[in-house]
Amino acid sequence: MATYDYDLFVIGGGSGGVRAGRLAGAMGKRVGLAEAYRMGGTCVIRGCVPKKLFVYASQFQEHFDAAAGYGWTVGKSTFDWPTLIANKDREIARLEGLYRKGLENSDVEIFESRAMLIDDHTIEILKTGKRVTADQILIAVGGHPSPHPSLPGNEFCISSNEAFHLDTLPKAIVIEGGGYIAVEFANIFHGLGVDTTLVYRGKEILSRFDQDLRHMLHAAMAEKGIHVRCTEIITRVERQDDGRKLVHLSGGDAIVADQVMLAIGRVPNTTSLGLEAAGVAVDETGAIKVDGYSRTSRENIWAVGDVTNRVQLTPVAIHEAMCFLETAFKNNPTKPDHALIATAVFSQPEIGTVGLTEQDAARTFKAVEVYRAVFRPMRNTLSGSTEKMLMKLIVDADSRKVVGAHILGPDAGEMAQLLAIPMKAGCTKEDFDRTMAVHPTAAEELVTMYKPTYRIVDGARID
Ligand code: FAD
Repeated sequence: MATYDYDLFVIGGGSGGVRAGRLAGAMGKRVGLAEAYRMGGTCVIRGCVPKKLFVYASQFQEHFDAAAGYGWTVGKSTFDWPTLIANKDREIARLEGLYRKGLENSDVEIFESRAMLIDDHTIEILKTGKRVTADQILIAVGGHPSPHPSLPGNEFCISSNEAFHLDTLPKAIVIEGGGYIAVEFANIFHGLGVDTTLVYRGKEILSRFDQDLRHMLHAAMAEKGIHVRCTEIITRVERQDDGRKLVHLSGGDAIVADQVMLAIGRVPNTTSLGLEAAGVAVDETGAIKVDGYSRTSRENIWAVGDVTNRVQLTPVAIHEAMCFLETAFKNNPTKPDHALIATAVFSQPEIGTVGLTEQDAARTFKAVEVYRAVFRPMRNTLSGSTEKMLMKLIVDADSRKVVGAHILGPDAGEMAQLLAIPMKAGCTKEDFDRTMAVHPTAAEELVTMYKPTYRIVDGARID
């Protein structure tokens, strides 16, 4: 029997890789892990965590404005970008240390280097040229922002990576993209006082979300003063003599901005990874092809997380890593379950969503009931804010199961997390109805919408 240096070698120390490496090490497996940049990966270093800290920072002006209605006089407030960056960096460094410690405590050997495959059992540590062998290999290298190669002037643009480290807060920014990263950053920059334009080629932002959420969020963003320009694209970016950028749009306008951020999608990190030499197949987007168990076209090589382009979210990468461990090391073949993934968009107002959109449900089921409430949340009454909240449940009229839940408003992400549990358990609308409300909350609306607002039968709406 062949002997290898490691039972498992993990390439990539992000959400999926660290979880797999740490738990395999804790099982007594001999584990090596290579990370090219910083431990923790996209989520910790330049994704979810710093993004959420920025979201918090960007909400204070609205809190200050709301305070007056509750009797508070807030003094003159100013915002200091370098302070936010420094404090955020300190927190990220702390978390990075925790991730590293977790691996060390599980006796995982860490290589601070890019790694590539030489063949199906051999990995080269590029920093030193050292080659190591492993019985099983897990690829968890994630992705990176698309640099939009066909855009003239793309070299003058930034991505979300750089947005976390700008020396100065721009006075004006143009963001291209309509996905959650573009939308979140538009709200962040606007909240920090930046004149913000969001340019998106589609008809409406957030293409995979429920139409109601998309329209209402768009309207709320526009009401706050964010310039949302749908059905347009950036055609060219020029750098002016003063360093500012001139951004040409397909509609004919040109906008001057200090920064242009591209958030048009992410590309799997599969170039120069030695995949061909190892016999690992990729699809037309460069994502690694895997079967239901996260196994690649090579028996002993597996891939999890963003690099497989299934669902690009941290909890999904972690779940896939844990299923991989069950399959590869615990003799318990386990497929990751990608159904009913709760997710949030940390826009302002926030989105929380689980399950099918109204449109998808109408295509899936013969008859659908839609329960919908739009109201002004109590916290907005004294503050004077006119911002509305949306709650929507989608029910399969036949099985009575709640198959979709969509919320726009304060704490929507927190609510989506909790709604995912009864929905995963297959609860019916009647289960929701016999659940006592918590009063006074916004969430009580979810258990007190007794009558459908409308029905959709064979794709046609019946009021
Ligand atoms: P990653 O976390 O990207 O880790 C891959 C690691 O591999 C990286 O550290 C990289 O340096 C390393 N690597 C790459 N190539 C090599 C190589 N050849 N050798 C060695 N190491 C290599 N998800 C959520 O769930 N909620 C959110 O709110 C959220 N917000 C986000 C905000 C932003 C701005 C971005 C960009 C992403 C966000 N995500 C969010 C998505 C989330 O970050 C990813 O889904 C998650 O990090 C994927 O984990 P992963 O393990 O697949 O890859």
